[in-house]
Amino acid sequence: MLLLKWEQGSQFAGYLDAEKPDMTWFYRGQVLTLIIALIISAVAFYIYRINRRLKGSLEKNHQITEALAESEELWRTIVKTSPDGIAITSVEGIIQQVSDTLVKERKNLADILEGTNAGTWNWNVQTGEVILNERWAEIIGCTLEELMPVDINTWISKVHPDDLPAANVSLEKNFRKELSYYDIEFRQPHKDGSWVWVNARGKVMEWTDDGKPLYMKGIHLDITERKKVEEALKISEEKFSTAFNMSPMAISISRLSDGLLMECNNALTNLTGYNRDELIGASALDLGFWVHPEDRKSILNRIILTGSVHNLEIDFRIKNGKIRTASYSSERIDYGGETCLLSMYEDVSDKKEVEKKINLLAHSLEGISECVSITDTDDRIIYVNESFLKTYGYTESELIGESIYIVRPPELDHVQVRNILPKTVEGGWQGEIMNIRKDGTKFPILLSTSALKDENGKLIALIGVALDITEMRKTKEELMNAKEQAEENNRLKSALLNNMSHEIRTPMNAIMGFSDLMKEVGPDEKDTYAEIINESSIQLLSLIDEVMLLSRLQSEKIPLKKGTIMPVELIKQFCHSHIHPDLKEGLEIVSRVSEKYNDLAIQADREKLIQILTNLTSNAVKYTFIGKVEIGFEVKMEFLEFFIKDTGIGIPEYEKDRIFDTFYRGEQVISLAIRGNGLGLNIAKELVSQIGGTIGVDTVLNEGSRFYFTMPLELADQVQPIPATSPAARKSVKDFSVLIVDDEPLNIQYLSILLKGNASRVDHAINGKEAIEMVFQHKYDLILMDMKMPVMGGIEATTILKKKYPDLPIVAQTAYTFPEEKELALSSGCDDFIGKPISKTRLLEMVHKYG
Ligand code: ADP
Repeated sequence: MLLLKWEQGSQFAGYLDAEKPDMTWFYRGQVLTLIIALIISAVAFYIYRINRRLKGSLEKNHQITEALAESEELWRTIVKTSPDGIAITSVEGIIQQVSDTLVKERKNLADILEGTNAGTWNWNVQTGEVILNERWAEIIGCTLEELMPVDINTWISKVHPDDLPAANVSLEKNFRKELSYYDIEFRQPHKDGSWVWVNARGKVMEWTDDGKPLYMKGIHLDITERKKVEEALKISEEKFSTAFNMSPMAISISRLSDGLLMECNNALTNLTGYNRDELIGASALDLGFWVHPEDRKSILNRIILTGSVHNLEIDFRIKNGKIRTASYSSERIDYGGETCLLSMYEDVSDKKEVEKKINLLAHSLEGISECVSITDTDDRIIYVNESFLKTYGYTESELIGESIYIVRPPELDHVQVRNILPKTVEGGWQGEIMNIRKDGTKFPILLSTSALKDENGKLIALIGVALDITEMRKTKEELMNAKEQAEENNRLKSALLNNMSHEIRTPMNAIMGFSDLMKEVGPDEKDTYAEIINESSIQLLSLIDEVMLLSRLQSEKIPLKKGTIMPVELIKQFCHSHIHPDLKEGLEIVSRVSEKYNDLAIQADREKLIQILTNLTSNAVKYTFIGKVEIGFEVKMEFLEFFIKDTGIGIPEYEKDRIFDTFYRGEQVISLAIRGNGLGLNIAKELVSQIGGTIGVDTVLNEGSRFYFTMPLELADQVQPIPATSPAARKSVKDFSVLIVDDEPLNIQYLSILLKGNASRVDHAINGKEAIEMVFQHKYDLILMDMKMPVMGGIEATTILKKKYPDLPIVAQTAYTFPEEKELALSSGCDDFIGKPISKTRLLEMVHKYG
């Protein structure tokens, strides 16, 4: 502290330093003394103000104190050495000089502070009082005003709790003078919620007399960005170091100038057999690493030129003297201030060995007709044979290196695929899977896989042999279908036999029963019984015919015999000639055909058409009691639609489809006891299908039904009606001789009885040979020739006879009634054909025709 003393009336003024109260100087001249006193006061005040403004800054205070000391010293010197009344001007100059220096210093300090962007703090350790600057608050996103009032707790509350202990330890060390400077980093909460990293530096600047810290002053620097960079650097270094050490690839860092190894990872020690100490500090040349030292030279030259080399195959020697092959890549880097090479080595010795083996194997598989592929352990294709390329539609370059999954459709059952590899490694896998060609078509293959292993049992490749089984599968499917069909047929056959047995027994019952009864009854009843027996026989026969026809239709496609037909004429004639035993009195059969179709001529199989019409009309007649049956057709686009419409009993909705099934009979007709066998509609359906059409029914119960069927419309030229020829006059019975050729005596007997009164002579032969002999001896007017006979059948005999006697009428009579049989008979020369059992009417028709 400075004190000015003024003594009234004296020429002297005194300067007293409070800390050195014994030192006082006195000067002459009141004015001078006053001026000096004023100057001292001004300087002191000025310094005090500076001091106030710059408080919080250790350096500033320090310098100010020093400046003050300097000025004191200066002043003392001046006072000491100056004579009375002189030195005032120079004192002013010196004071001015001191003041300027202080201003400059002050600005300098302020600039420095601003330049460092530091927050400042001045802490009275004893009172806890703290002075902070605006920047201190700004670092944590606040204004100083917001933090007011501030004391040491302001700081404590603004330090991350985890960092506080370390900060305190450091403070303690400073207080104990173990550390001359306080320098610590900690986190502070920013107003925006983030954490700001702060570097606090400071020093205890003043101590109490008893050695306790009084003033501690320092700065805060925001080091968040630096921390982030440090953190990133740390992570990156850690990453590099982890990658380096953990890499399965052998890596080394060696000095470019002399090849000295500076760093290496575990993979390199594993690869070479040397331990780390043996490697670090040694050069590859020292270790005899290079099998071909010239390799090193050429590699170095390339690196010097281009900075790096990649995937060069080199042979190198490991510790045990063995030579291995590596794929070598190297790059020039700066490491620890020196130019070095970062080199990587991939041991490809095994791979080379594998390649050799695979090449050998591939060569032997080239000509195989199955598709062969070899894949590495990563499922990459390394070889495919010619058949594979052909089957899958790829070129070799499109497949090599690709995953084998390229030929597997994405939707393939993954569980199945996942099983393939382990099973293959265990010994092999075989199964059917789908594959996909390049063009996207999928096809089934039978795949067999096996594993290729090295001498240590290590898996080196997988071999797949695939066989396209598309055809095989198709055949299998066909066989399966055929089997199913056979089973279905078998089932149907059983059902059919079952039904047939029932259907046969019904008329047979009548036939046998009434035949028996006939023996015991009188002539009137006999006639009735004979009638019943006859009807039952017809029923039985029609059943046999229908079953045979149906079975044939269901098992094969009977060739269509198309001819020109005028449908209008056909319908009219059909209506006219349809005689049905069930046709009730008053029930009409009428044709409903439009005149516009009068000239329509079509190509169709007449016989089948008539058969369908017959079956449908028979039903209509059977199931209609009053009203009419209308038959007609319509042209509908490319089809001809025939219809048979009745006013009968109709069909309930639930039976509409079932009535077309084999042996199905409507519940209504059964309960009405209307005769039938449930085959008519089934036969009609099969026939319609064979002529390329469809069949159906529109019906209303108790009102009637309209059955319809279609056939493709195939137009034809009109045919001229053949004029009807009047039958030639019949020979008299007296001149009419007949030869019956049959091996069955009962048939001979039956025919002989039928011919009684219609022929003058009836002979018989029991086979074709005998018939020929008899014809040579006698002239016959008609021969009734059975077809199937021992010694010589009817076909052969007819052929021989017709050659010699082309005009001799021969009528085939056979139990084989299929159209083919008829055709065969006619083609051998027979003039006509009658099926067994032969009815009297039919036989007499023949007698009249040829008589
Ligand atoms: P069915 O010998 O019984 O006539 P179909 O196969 O010809 O055998 O006919 C099967 C069933 O269809 C018949 O039993 C009958 O119930 C029914 N049906 C067929 N045609 C007619 C029709 N025009 N009117 C009423 N029902 C019919």
